[in-house]
Amino acid sequence: MRLRAQSGSAAHAAFVAAVALLASAGVLVALAVALPVAFDDEASPAVGPATRAARPAEAEAAVDKAVAALRAADEDAWRVALPASGDAARRAMADLFDTLSGLPRTTLEAVVQPIPSRGGRYDIRLLGTLAGAGPADRLVAERVLDLEVMGPRVVATGDATPKAARELYLMAFDEPRVVEHDACVIITEPKYTDLAEDLATAAGAARGELAMLGVDPDRAVVLYLYATRAQLRDALGGGPTDERFEFFSAPVARESGELGWPRDINILAPALEGEDEWLSRLLAHELTHAFTVHWFADTANDPMFLAEGMAVAVEGGRSYDALRAELAGGNERLPLATAIGLGSLWSGNADDKVQLAYLEAGSVVLYILDEWGLEDLKRWILGVADSDLTPDGVAATTRRTLGVTWDAFVAGWTEYVQTLP
Ligand SMILES: [Zn+2]
Repeated sequence: MRLRAQSGSAAHAAFVAAVALLASAGVLVALAVALPVAFDDEASPAVGPATRAARPAEAEAAVDKAVAALRAADEDAWRVALPASGDAARRAMADLFDTLSGLPRTTLEAVVQPIPSRGGRYDIRLLGTLAGAGPADRLVAERVLDLEVMGPRVVATGDATPKAARELYLMAFDEPRVVEHDACVIITEPKYTDLAEDLATAAGAARGELAMLGVDPDRAVVLYLYATRAQLRDALGGGPTDERFEFFSAPVARESGELGWPRDINILAPALEGEDEWLSRLLAHELTHAFTVHWFADTANDPMFLAEGMAVAVEGGRSYDALRAELAGGNERLPLATAIGLGSLWSGNADDKVQLAYLEAGSVVLYILDEWGLEDLKRWILGVADSDLTPDGVAATTRRTLGVTWDAFVAGWTEYVQTLP
């Protein structure tokens, strides 16, 4: 299961524009009127200091100092670097520190961007690797803060972060815990650390399976293990609309908006309960997605059929009975050529039809692998992804890459399916 790639930079530009619009429309009521003079720390100026909006260089310097304190998990230094005034700003700063300060080997840096038309208001994005894994520009938190200069200090005086952005990325976690393993870095809540340990072990066992596709998962993948569906939605800013998605890979949310690999793996923890022996196959499936996404970086399409076919083939352990029944009936419910061209195998399909699509995809990959080998499988997959995905386009690709007509291919595949578990 997977999510469609989305341009991080475009999404982000829209976000900034929305904030600016809200600000100029006066929808986000902020501070400015009455600033409480009390601070959390005693080093603050005493009475009614003159205030003005922080300039970009001042904002950046203060935020950088605060982020250095966050990296060092030094709460005193954090408060001194960027003190907060007012409940909303205090809550925002405390939330950032509580959530992010305890993560092991997590690099952090800040991008501080002024919100147009609103002096002193800044979109602050925190980026970093997680426990040494993933790109350095992974987004981990975002806040829109009002920063003012009071005497010698830059002070956070308001939190104008839109509700939907407050819990994005790591901020969705109440008490994030990290389980580190060569194969994956898992972020979860305390309640699920045992399950995370099991998943890490399963990932270690599963990653060798990818050799079947000539893939060597040579670096750790980041796996978010969510406690609830609401948490998953918060972290991803929505997530899949189809609630049947409980395990899936997704692009890393990056400041640069660039697509990279491996993708992240997202898992809803409650969906795994009581499924111990199945974890390894699940991880083999999701790791396949995470480490093959870049095969489709330059193709015209990236049909779900191909991605799921590879993942189902590597996962193993499925019964193909339902597919044999479909083929015995003439493959009319979901003809192979139709399945290959589907944008989504899920959309509008009931569970049994989704499963049928997955079995067709997995069996086609296994068939080509057994009959022609890995190199031809890759040529076929890339050729189909680069075709127009019509039956004619797929047939022409099949003839060009495998040297057989579509009818001969379907006949051979139908026979092959009879030999599967
Ligand atoms: Zn999948």
